[in-house]
Order: sequence, then structure tokens, then C-alpha cells
Amino acid sequence: TVKAQGKNGVRASGEALVEESARRSRLARDLPGAIARGQLRLVHQPVAGTAERRILGVEALVRWDHPVHGPVSPEEFIGLAEDDGLIVPLQRWVLETATAEHARLVAGGRDLKLGVNISVRHLQARCLVEDVTRALERSGLPARMLMIEVTESVLMDDDERLVAELAELSALGCIVSLDDFGKGYSSLAYLARLPVQVLKMDRGFVSGIDTDPRGAALVGSVVDLGRTLGMDVVAEGVETPEQMALLTALGCRFLQGWLIGRPVPADELAAVVDGFDAARLEVPVPVAVP
Ligand code: C2E
Ligand code: MG
Ligand code: MG
Ligand code: MG
Repeated sequence: TVKAQGKNGVRASGEALVEESARRSRLARDLPGAIARGQLRLVHQPVAGTAERRILGVEALVRWDHPVHGPVSPEEFIGLAEDDGLIVPLQRWVLETATAEHARLVAGGRDLKLGVNISVRHLQARCLVEDVTRALERSGLPARMLMIEVTESVLMDDDERLVAELAELSALGCIVSLDDFGKGYSSLAYLARLPVQVLKMDRGFVSGIDTDPRGAALVGSVVDLGRTLGMDVVAEGVETPEQMALLTALGCRFLQGWLIGRPVPADELAAVVDGFDAARLEVPVPVAVP
């Protein structure tokens, strides 16, 4: 982002670049100790089913509380961890922590799925299946409750071994979802071959849905695509009742976003799930699809 315009514009953005690279190297230096120092934590965001009229699952999202920089977004440090070879230990921590927290949540009789985001590097490292198996065993969580979220971009390199790893997760009983679907360029032919049960439609589709008629048409075609391929479609980033109304009219039955619920710490999750008011999924006025 350009901080200042005019005479000082060049210098201001130059300073910003220097600042940014200092921050980056500080974060890269501190990341290896972050797990051991207990600076990572998970928050969990609910996903609602409009037909079931309840919360069907949660997605675990990692946070890093840096002692100097405060909360750092995964958008910023996952990439660093990938570059530094730290991604596997980090993902192991996420898997172990998320499954343990989720096992406690469902021990009260709740039927909820858990979504965990996975880096392609973990798939490439060829130990994901083993790490998932271990996390399930330790936590006692049934495999059918775990959904592994991989981004569409991971499948771009058309690596048969990665597809085979995903198929193994599927065979274990886990659900595999394609995250940020539509952001990249998966070919439809390729998609049809993937062992994937869920498409998580990128937030970018949802944000334009109520302002741009073509946006609504695109969402409609993703929903149809999911139906054709036998995959459930989850809409990400649902923020307004108007977006929810349109998504529902277009046949999208699974919703995630601030309208449904913000990410919360594990100890607040039971209250969020149990206290969810199904009336919030009601579409007040029937909407016409533009
Ligand atoms: P994602 O998996 O697509 O997760 C959804 C992101 O959208 C989350 O950002 C969430 O907080 C945000 N979000 C949810 N609802 C709304 C909404 O209504 N409006 C807007 N504007 N945003 C919303 P977050 O937590 O910053 O995570 C960003 C990305 O970082 C994730 O995208 C995921 O790709 C990655 N990530 C998160 N946790 C992990 C992890 O444990 N491992 C790996 N490898 N990646 C992770
Ligand atoms: Mg995700
Ligand atoms: Mg996503
Ligand atoms: Mg995303």
C-alpha cells in the first residue's frame, strides 16, 4: 500500500518497504521458537447448514501472538514457515491441538465436523497421512469428523502423488475439501478426478454476489458444478443477510462467514454452537436472483 502521495511519496513507500522487510526478518527469526513458547493458538469459526438449520462444523484457524508485533495473520507467517522448513512441525501442532480441542467439544454429544487447513508442503513431505492418523488416534476423534482443507493452488502442479495422498486421507474416512475454490485455475477435467468431497467457494465470489448480476450467475454455476460432481459447496465470507438470501436462492446450503459467526477461542465454542439461533438463517423476503 502506498502510504503517502506527492513529494514524499517515493521516500514514504521506500521506508515502508524497509519496515516491511525488517518485520519479515524479525518474524522469520522468531517463528522457530513460537510453538515452544506457546505463542500459537487456534480460533474456530462456525459453518452453518441452511437445510439442517444448525452449526454443522467449525474451521480451525491458526494465530500467532508475537510478543512485539501482536497478533500476526496466518496469511503472513504460513508462507514464512513454508520457506523455512517449519511448516511440518507447525502443521503437526495445528492438527494435534485442533483435534484435541474438537474431541472435547464433541464429547458432549455434539455432531460437528472439524476443518483443518493444510499446506501443500505438508502433502509434499509425504507424512501428512501419518500425522493425521496420529492426531486422530491421540485425540480419539473419529476420522469422519475431520475435514482436511487444501487450497486449489496445491493441485496446480498436477502431481499424481499428491492426489494419491489425498485419496489415502479419504480412505481413512476423512473429508477432503478444496479451499478458496475458484480463485485459481483448476481445470474442470482435473477437478472431476480429484478425491474431494467439498468445494469451499472463495470469498471473492460471495462479495460481489449482491451487486453484480454476473457475480450471482458465477455462484450459481459453482453450485451447479458441485451438484454435478457430487460435492457439497460451502460459501466462504458470508457477511450480509442479502448475500445469505441470494446464496440460499442459488441453492448453496452451507455458509461460513461473519454473518454466521466470527472465529472464537475453543473455550467459547460450545456456547456459540449451542446458542446458535436458527432464525438467523431465515430469509425474510424471497429474493429474485438477478
Ligand atoms: P481460509 O482457509 O480460506 O480461511 C478463511 C479466512 O477468511 C480466515 O482468515 C477467516 O478468518 C476469514 N473470514 C471468515 N469469514 C469471513 C468474512 O465473513 N469476511 C472476511 N473478510 N473474512 C472472513 P484467516 O484466519 O486470517 O486465515 C487466512 C488463511 O490462512 C486461511 O484461509 C488459510 O488458507 C490459512 N490458514 C489458517 N490457518 C491455517 C493453518 O493452520 N495451516 C495452514 N496451512 N494455513 C492456515
Ligand atoms: Mg480453510
Ligand atoms: Mg478459504
Ligand atoms: Mg481464503
